[in-house]
Amino acid sequence: MSLLEIRNLRAGLVEENKEILKGVNLSVKQGEIHAIMGPNGSGKSTLANVIMGNPKYKVIDGEILFEGESILDLPVDERARRGIFLSFQYPQEIPGIRTRNFLISVKQFMGSKEPMLRLSREIERFSAEVALDKAFLDRYLNVGFSGGEKKKSEILQMAFLKPKLAILDEIDSGLDVDALKTVAEAIMRFKTEDMAIILITHYERLLEYIKPDVVHVYVDGRVIISDGAELARKVEEKGYGFLTERV
Ligand code: ADP
Ligand code: MG
Ligand code: MG
Repeated sequence: MSLLEIRNLRAGLVEENKEILKGVNLSVKQGEIHAIMGPNGSGKSTLANVIMGNPKYKVIDGEILFEGESILDLPVDERARRGIFLSFQYPQEIPGIRTRNFLISVKQFMGSKEPMLRLSREIERFSAEVALDKAFLDRYLNVGFSGGEKKKSEILQMAFLKPKLAILDEIDSGLDVDALKTVAEAIMRFKTEDMAIILITHYERLLEYIKPDVVHVYVDGRVIISDGAELARKVEEKGYGFLTERV
């Protein structure tokens, strides 16, 4: 059985009558790594948000099954509780909520009964592993963080929450070469055998560190080709044009 099964998904913004997702099909099994590559504006972030249940988007048709059950009627927090995690392309700044406290309350909301001190220590350990200075943990979530620090904080969240499915939306954007390596290596260390990952990216560079089981090329609201890891290199070399011509 697939962990995530998306069938003929069509969706758009609540406030606009425009279809952005035009029939997405995607099937992800437990523990697999999938890369989604596609040009800017093709609807990759929209897909991520629709899977997570962002209320700004509406589903027009199709189905999203998680562990065999439809999640379309579930709110974001319930999807998170079931084990879906989204790291945002543009992480939000949340003044008034400190990173450490935020993480602990989410974990408790998700049912953790572990003592606060233990959770706090675990957060510090993960933070060291992504090379994010401990001082950030007691600053407001993402406020005044650089692009790279925001991405590290997202990966820290992933490590701490241990989702069944982590969707990482352009985790590589805004990272310099060294930070990219640190973040990619941390993702691989934090990935458990059971954790599936969907990596949304423009660049093949990330995929040199994180080997995907499947690469999907995503153009204009749908997956047009899926293949093994070598597809990423072809896309990088030839661009999306040659693929769209072939279809
Ligand atoms: P990608 O992540 O592949 O770059 P997006 O999902 O961000 O693509 O965007 C797909 C299309 O939907 C674009 O035309 C974009 O302008 C539009 N869009 C997405 N989200 C919003 C939004 N919140 N408000 C207005 N337009 C949006
Ligand atoms: Mg974009
Ligand atoms: Mg995007």
